[in-house]
Amino acid sequence: MEIQYLGTAAAEGWPALFCDCDICHRARKEGGKDLRTRTQSIIDGTILIDFPPDTYTHAIQYSLNLGQIQHLLITHSHMDHFFPVELIHRHEHFGHNAKGMLHVYGNEAVEKAFYEAVLIDRFKVHPLDNSVQFIRLEPYQDFYAEGYHIIPVPADHDKRETCLIYMIEKDGKCLLYGHDTGMNLSQEAWECIYSHKYNLISMDATMGKQKTNGYHMGLHDDVEFARRLEEKGCLHPDTIKVINHFSHNGGMTHRELEEFAAEHGMIASYDGMKVVF
Ligand SMILES: [Zn+2]
Ligand SMILES: [Zn+2]
Ligand SMILES: [Zn+2]
Repeated sequence: MEIQYLGTAAAEGWPALFCDCDICHRARKEGGKDLRTRTQSIIDGTILIDFPPDTYTHAIQYSLNLGQIQHLLITHSHMDHFFPVELIHRHEHFGHNAKGMLHVYGNEAVEKAFYEAVLIDRFKVHPLDNSVQFIRLEPYQDFYAEGYHIIPVPADHDKRETCLIYMIEKDGKCLLYGHDTGMNLSQEAWECIYSHKYNLISMDATMGKQKTNGYHMGLHDDVEFARRLEEKGCLHPDTIKVINHFSHNGGMTHRELEEFAAEHGMIASYDGMKVVF
């Protein structure tokens, strides 16, 4: 399996849109891996995870032919993970030669946002029924998409909706995609996570060196999260541990994140990073 991290920032981006804190100031000055767009990933060039406002930028930057993608997993409705109005451009009027149907999978809040965005007046004449379809997910109800076995697990995030993280497996390889979530998962969610052995775990690192109390994780939570999975026998000796979804409010530059990650056997993601596992 291959995962490519198309974007690696939290909602406000890095540098944040209206911010001139030390981290954002340095990011503008240094550029490179300190410039981060909003979090989005793609598995084997086939399964797209999340749909931030930066999707268009990602498509250009990484030469993605998004019209060929037929499966889009959405974690939750926050703007940095779901910016649905852009989906109207998959209509045949704009998306020539788009392949069959794009299946958009998500929770109840994502469903509401989806219909609010795609049913705007001018598209009532040209409905998206033949190009984009929404599929409502329920926690733990697994499904298959193009040979990938996918299990949605409820996250510790915005309590107003059923935020989901995903377990994704194919050909004996397994990925845990944990964005966005804190550590305060339900016992049922932990048990579901413990039921698999992972080749790659992708952990929320929004808070950097700050302490957290759920909703997101910081670096010390990531260490603890990986330790728990190790203790439960969910990791191989060569399991790749990635930290991702960073905020300038975490107070660390990319180099500092990289150093911390290396000390703890992890990899700090950056925009465009590909990992084969
Ligand atoms: Zn987020
Ligand atoms: Zn800032
Ligand atoms: Zn969120």
